[in-house]
Amino acid sequence: MAILGVDLGGTKIAAGLVSAKAEVTHCREVPTLADQGYEVSRGQLDQLIAAMLGPEVEAIGICAPGPLDPISGVVANPPNLPGWRNIALAHETARKYGLPCRVENDANAAALAEARFGAGAGFDPVFYATLSTGIGTGLVSGGKVFHGAHGAAAEGGHVSVDYRSSVVCRCGVRGCIEALASGTAILRRAREAGFSVQNASELAALEDPAAVQLMEETTDMLAAWLGSMMTLFDPGVVVLGGGVTKLGEKLFGPLRRKTPACTLNPNAAGISIVPAALGRECGVVGAAAAFLSF
Ligand SMILES: [Zn+2]
Repeated sequence: MAILGVDLGGTKIAAGLVSAKAEVTHCREVPTLADQGYEVSRGQLDQLIAAMLGPEVEAIGICAPGPLDPISGVVANPPNLPGWRNIALAHETARKYGLPCRVENDANAAALAEARFGAGAGFDPVFYATLSTGIGTGLVSGGKVFHGAHGAAAEGGHVSVDYRSSVVCRCGVRGCIEALASGTAILRRAREAGFSVQNASELAALEDPAAVQLMEETTDMLAAWLGSMMTLFDPGVVVLGGGVTKLGEKLFGPLRRKTPACTLNPNAAGISIVPAALGRECGVVGAAAAFLSF
């Protein structure tokens, strides 16, 4: 028995057969020809799925960038997949291949993979965030992704931490944590301050007091935000993934120190903030995970 897990992204489409124990085999990956439009990138996806199918495949799980509705499996209009407008991907895939299919947004899928097989295993609920070009989050409770009433829940990256901020997020809200402390936002703030760095790690390596101050503000904002997440969800663990976590202790140390003061939750000091454990295969495992019992 295996589940075909497919990670549809703006830069690559990855697929693998995922066992009940989350072992991934038969991995394949192609660079997404996203800028050639929907017909081309959809063709790539269908070609990859067809090439991976065999008698052992029982179901197909796909994770894709949001916005999408994980309940209906409709991909709405992701900015990094041009032309994908209101595509009933779960329904169309299920009909085409005669197998059950679910479509989940990439942050929720990564949250599920980490909760079941990664750094969140054994904890409940698990709050997961990927700190990357954007900030994507997911909440896994009772082994399931919390979807809300309409599939739109737990978009924690678009929680505002400053309603008077001069920065308006791409979602239209002022002061979203994504617009202030994602990898992209850290770089933008660094360049506005005159530092020509390529990523957060380069900024954190600088000893200039203004660079130190920028990093301090970044962890202040993230701690204020994570404190609010702890107030809302009382998670068993907080798992952080994505490129910004390459900062290591320069990120995790300040967050562990500062977050308990930013929440009403009396258990906050005991809620571990840990790095994600799964690597590149996280999306493929997460896409398949909704079909795996454990
Ligand atoms: Zn936003």
